[in-house]
Amino acid sequence: MSLERRKTREVTVGALKIGSEHPVVVQSMTNTDTRDVESTVAQIEELVAAGCELVRVAVLDEQAAWAISRIKDQISIPLIADIHFDHRLAIKSLEAGVDALRINPGNIGGEKNVDKVVDAAKAHNAAIRVGVNSGSVERALLDKFGGPTPEAMVESAMQHVAMLEKRKFYNTKISLKSSSVLHTIDSYRLLAEKCDYPLHIGVTEAGTLLRGAIKSSVGLGVLLWQGIGDTLRVSLTDDPVQEMTVAWELLRSLGLRHRGPEIISCPTCGRTEIGLINLVEVVEKRLEGVVDPIKVAVMGCVVNGPGEAREADIGIAGGRDKGIIFRKGKVIRTVKGGANLLNAFMEELDKFLIERNK
Ligand code: SF4
Repeated sequence: MSLERRKTREVTVGALKIGSEHPVVVQSMTNTDTRDVESTVAQIEELVAAGCELVRVAVLDEQAAWAISRIKDQISIPLIADIHFDHRLAIKSLEAGVDALRINPGNIGGEKNVDKVVDAAKAHNAAIRVGVNSGSVERALLDKFGGPTPEAMVESAMQHVAMLEKRKFYNTKISLKSSSVLHTIDSYRLLAEKCDYPLHIGVTEAGTLLRGAIKSSVGLGVLLWQGIGDTLRVSLTDDPVQEMTVAWELLRSLGLRHRGPEIISCPTCGRTEIGLINLVEVVEKRLEGVVDPIKVAVMGCVVNGPGEAREADIGIAGGRDKGIIFRKGKVIRTVKGGANLLNAFMEELDKFLIERNK
């Protein structure tokens, strides 16, 4: 079964095309000081290696805006400048070569400033993301709807978008973020009915690795399952590189995109004969950097392991003093336990990847 995406128009961000005719894009945001070009580029490179396709940096002052050109020279993915309130920083970032702005036109000091930003965005072929958070909804809308309800957030976003449309600017995507999963789902569903702009989806302030991964997976999973979402960010209070693992696993679970190994490992039980938790960690570590979408099984006993992980392209099952390596449930090698087993497995894995890429 493949999920049907909600029809959205095409938006261009640098070399990237976004919309329902294109794959859902994995996005992140750096947490370095943007003025520190070296650290920011290093973090973006790590993110790219882990699967990031679009990245946002915070632009807090002029120095950060000018740093953009040096950052852009050294990275391979499109860059978004995150700007609050200051139209001059937006224009400087565009002049420095940024591919998109995250800015709300209603918050930058009036119509004249919106004219200037939109003219500069058009001149530089840049996109604009309107991003409404539950904390940023205007007072009048809070009064009208009795709080930052999904209706208030959607109306706020559409007001910002109308300011762009008035100037015939349509290279726009929209986000509506809340730290509540249900609120996020309701808001995006409502917005999806009101426009055909691509939507950037995320649950904001989702929390630390485990809790944030769960909240993001539930919220984004429900939306993606309903066809909503053209770019996504899993926000975590952690190293942003961790966001990539969660994002790609989420897309894989829904059959939307596939990247890197899928590790199938058994939950362990009374039949487990080896230190499986440690073995999975070692296998995962050894597979870091593999981009091919393969299924790899790591199982706790030689009797049931190959059968339980029959769908795996290649697998390892450990016994007390011997282990086996199997492909699609068939044993291809029996090896004495310990380090030998892991080395033999990696040999077989390399062989498998070479054969598959022939
Ligand atoms: Fe238990 Fe073996 Fe199944 Fe793992 S593969 S859960 S050890 S029976």
